[in-house]
Amino acid sequence: MKELISIIDVPKHVGETVKIGAWVANKSGKGKIAFLQLRDGTAFFQAVAFKPNFIEKFGEEEGLEKFDIIKHLTQETSVIVTGTVKEDERSKFGYELDLTDIEVVGESNEFPITPKEHGTDFLMDNRHLWLRSSKQQAIMQVRNALTYATYEFFQQNGFIKFDSPILSGNAAENTTDLFETDYFGNPAYLSQSGQLYLEAGAMAFGRVFDFGPVFRAEKSKTRRHLTEFWMMDAEYTFFTHDESLDLQEAYIKHLIKYVLDNASYALETLERDTSLLEKYVNEPFKRVSYDDAIDLLQKHESDEDTDYEHLEHGDDFGSPHETWISNYYGVPTFIMNYPSSFKAFYMKPVPGNPERVLCADLLAPEGYGEIVGGSERETDYDVLTQKIIDFGLDPKDYDWYLDLRKYGSVPHAGFGLGLERMVTFVAGTAHIREAIPFPRMLHRIKP
Ligand code: ATP
Ligand code: MG
Repeated sequence: MKELISIIDVPKHVGETVKIGAWVANKSGKGKIAFLQLRDGTAFFQAVAFKPNFIEKFGEEEGLEKFDIIKHLTQETSVIVTGTVKEDERSKFGYELDLTDIEVVGESNEFPITPKEHGTDFLMDNRHLWLRSSKQQAIMQVRNALTYATYEFFQQNGFIKFDSPILSGNAAENTTDLFETDYFGNPAYLSQSGQLYLEAGAMAFGRVFDFGPVFRAEKSKTRRHLTEFWMMDAEYTFFTHDESLDLQEAYIKHLIKYVLDNASYALETLERDTSLLEKYVNEPFKRVSYDDAIDLLQKHESDEDTDYEHLEHGDDFGSPHETWISNYYGVPTFIMNYPSSFKAFYMKPVPGNPERVLCADLLAPEGYGEIVGGSERETDYDVLTQKIIDFGLDPKDYDWYLDLRKYGSVPHAGFGLGLERMVTFVAGTAHIREAIPFPRMLHRIKP
């Protein structure tokens, strides 16, 4: 099979005869001519079969037989096609294949997802097949590029990949969203975030990141929440919160730029406005404190085009507030220094303002919501122990975590990015369910 090429590489072979392994996505034509829309996971393009060419090449009988096979191919039949690559300005891909031979590899009968419109539930029930469509293929290519670019960025910045466990004997921070399971007669919990373990890694290795699935029993149905999603957490020592924001901004810019440079075909398929993505790469992100953001929201709440609820200092943002703020600035925006009461126990207070903590959420513009959450961590053993108690947690459960403040505690900070949130933002997808191959949500665990 080595001589097969990928559709995405077709432009390198203009004028040559090539072989491609693919599936028939669609078919059209009449009389002497047949058009096949082919896909192979890298791209979609068209192959054209002209009956007289087949007769000339294979003789009357075999030529007609081959042309007949092409005319009767059904959707998702797998084939190996041979043909000559031609430039073709009229087609979206810019190239097409002048077909000279075809071999059917696997038949396909009554593929359920036809080119007509289908409802979301139907598509979700057939997710294993829906993944073959051009839009889903493009989204997964964006996801793949983001994954690769994450490893590249942290490698370039001196981080070591440090894998946090998925099973844990205690909750990381939020006991209400925990998935519990049985661990040989004792309760165990699926990880909601690798962060606490990553802090142990940072004290051992300086700069660490993890990247893997986390689980949250989110019972609300939103366009932004999955119950299983992939999180990238980074943690680094001798780092302040401001330095952390610089690193986060560099990371997000690196991700967007990588997709622009390496997945342009996918972005084109998705009809993503790349001028906006370029703007996010080239312009500085906005940084605004939680309290200033509340003031700003209050100032604009009776504007004609706003439709969010009034907020007081101390209230949490809803998604209409997040959307409004990030659109107001038009670039990814850090909301800094939230009230300590609605953030995790391990965050360090703002010097001189114990009601606020040194943290930030990064809001994506265009309504894509929060993509990153990060903070500087409390370093003092006694303060942290008291915080754990104040949050209604048991310091005994956190003995190993508290140890990190006993033996050479240092300033450190970190952040977590939700991969699927980033995918929806960069790909321009309305709902997070399309940002992961097999989404898990309330009422959805199959396929
Ligand atoms: P939200 O307020 O949107 O629920 P969060 O404050 O719970 O987010 P963090 O605990 O800071 O989020 O998690 C870090 C990142 O993980 C978030 O910035 C977001 O990108 C992502 N994330 C959080 N919850 C989910 C979820 N249920 N599904 C997908 N991604 C998520
Ligand atoms: Mg949440």
